[in-house]
Amino acid sequence: MVKNRWVAVAEDRVLKPNDFPTAKSAQISAVNGGFCPFCQGNEAHTPHEITACRPPESAPDGPGWLVRAIPNKFSAFEPEGTLAEKKSGIYRATNGLGRHEVIIETPEHGVEFHELSAERIGLVLGMLKRRYNDLAADGRIKYIQIYKNQGLFAGASLKHTHSQIVGLPFVPAENEGLELYYNEKKSCLLCDIIKQEKEERTRLVHESDSFIALCPYASRFPYEVWIVPLAHQGHFGDLHEDKIMELASLLKDMASVIMNRLEMPSYNLIINTAPVNSGEAAPYHWYMELTPRMVVNAGVEIATGVFINPVSPELAAGILKEALSARK
Ligand SMILES: [Zn+2]
Ligand SMILES: [Zn+2]
Repeated sequence: MVKNRWVAVAEDRVLKPNDFPTAKSAQISAVNGGFCPFCQGNEAHTPHEITACRPPESAPDGPGWLVRAIPNKFSAFEPEGTLAEKKSGIYRATNGLGRHEVIIETPEHGVEFHELSAERIGLVLGMLKRRYNDLAADGRIKYIQIYKNQGLFAGASLKHTHSQIVGLPFVPAENEGLELYYNEKKSCLLCDIIKQEKEERTRLVHESDSFIALCPYASRFPYEVWIVPLAHQGHFGDLHEDKIMELASLLKDMASVIMNRLEMPSYNLIINTAPVNSGEAAPYHWYMELTPRMVVNAGVEIATGVFINPVSPELAAGILKEALSARK
């Protein structure tokens, strides 16, 4: 309403203070152990797997897998039914239609995402692509968000490394800048950003055959990095199989540099992509955001939406570029 935002409210759960990610993660790190449903051998403690990378001789929901996709047990969304709007006085609500899945990235506990081999990260990206395309085939889904919460301040509630994919029945407003730019200039904003960044080179961190890593102009978070495919492509689901390993090794490099150079911050990994089942994809160009969470959103960010970034992207790019070349 006032904020012009949709909020997903879980109606049927009562959470105790300790159930919230901050308190829970603090407890997990304090105990440094406890039961983990994502570990190999504990498959019976998760919902039935949707699919997994596993050798043909191993059975679903049993051990032996490499990467495993399961429904999110604590989803705020219901996968069945149709979208229905209900009004309550001046307020608008819909039922929580949507699909929410978890991709467990390794059977091994305690290995962080950036420590996985590039081959394993390639399997994770391949799985995310397949799940994206599967969710996109559901006409009720209009937007698919892939994200990863790494560490306490990024919202991780389980230590075992995993990413999540959520299919929403509406298109969130977060990337509408791409559409506004396209409508005004008849050109893709990300393609134009790539062109300018390759000329200026002040925010460029790395360029591979098919991808560019840069610290975006006026970024919201210190050391925020975007990985963008050089060729125009709207949907992450159209990522070519031949490019997956190149992307996996660049992603591993960038996540490693952030973790090692910045002393293991929490971070989010987000894949922004074109809406699905909603017409025009032309203004969209998918890309990945790596956002270290080194500062907490304070009053000014919450009140005005204006982010205060204490490290300029130009400075951050120089530091990350140097750390990357030291790694090579
Ligand atoms: Zn585990
Ligand atoms: Zn483009």
